[in-house]
Amino acid sequence: MGYIIFTDLDGTLIDHDTYSYEAARPALNLLKQKDVPLIFCTSKTRAEIEVYVEELDCRHPFISENGGGIFIPKGYFDIDLKFDHRIGDYNVIELGTNYSNLKDALVEISKSAGIEIINFANMTTEEVSEDTGLDIHSAGLAKLREYDEVFRIIDETEEKASLMMELIRSAGYNHTRGGRYWHIIGNNDKGKAVRMLSDIYRKQFTDITTVGLGDSLNDLPMLGSVDIPVLVQKPGSLHDPSITDPKIKRVKGIGPIGWNNAVSEIIEKGSEI
Ligand SMILES: [Mg+2]
Repeated sequence: MGYIIFTDLDGTLIDHDTYSYEAARPALNLLKQKDVPLIFCTSKTRAEIEVYVEELDCRHPFISENGGGIFIPKGYFDIDLKFDHRIGDYNVIELGTNYSNLKDALVEISKSAGIEIINFANMTTEEVSEDTGLDIHSAGLAKLREYDEVFRIIDETEEKASLMMELIRSAGYNHTRGGRYWHIIGNNDKGKAVRMLSDIYRKQFTDITTVGLGDSLNDLPMLGSVDIPVLVQKPGSLHDPSITDPKIKRVKGIGPIGWNNAVSEIIEKGSEI
């Protein structure tokens, strides 16, 4: 039985504040040793994910911007697959909506609601860096968006947020929330992309068990689409209280610490933790 690991990055494999994955190093090494595919499934952009692909020498498919795009290294699968694009060394399956439509719609909606927002398209690289704590180079990569616009509501209240989300839905878009920001997306989510990529793995390898690891509400569709769903703790040692599904295993440990515990146990012991 082969495992396929789908993982969120921010707040899950990498620490919410320091952006470090060092605490997960033992389990990352174990996956390498056992040749277990590690699939990044994140709200990050392709350009940001490619940094981790290089650093971790992780040559597997990945899913960008909340399920907007599935990027498969050319020649990775032997079977015949349908793609929408070829970009660089990847064949791309596109599930998301064009970024420029999303950001225009978002600005329109916030204006019509009279709700003030800040969004990545209207922020300089320096402002994104200051707001996220990312260094300038990483902030530049975060702005290279293709399928998802990131925003924050100024002086957010529950009332403002629910009106904004209602208007996004009635305009035919979707929204989700990661660790720091709201996101406007098209008809895609992490779960759809995970199911599609899992089906491709199943065609190639037949007998696979999928594992998914996340920390936030935007991971819920992914966690609902894998055999073994795992939730790591957020800073403050709490599991996201908005995720209540009892089938999701709540592992002890914040971000990469919990990730390391869960992945080591699943892979070493073949257990469902
Ligand atoms: Mg996260």
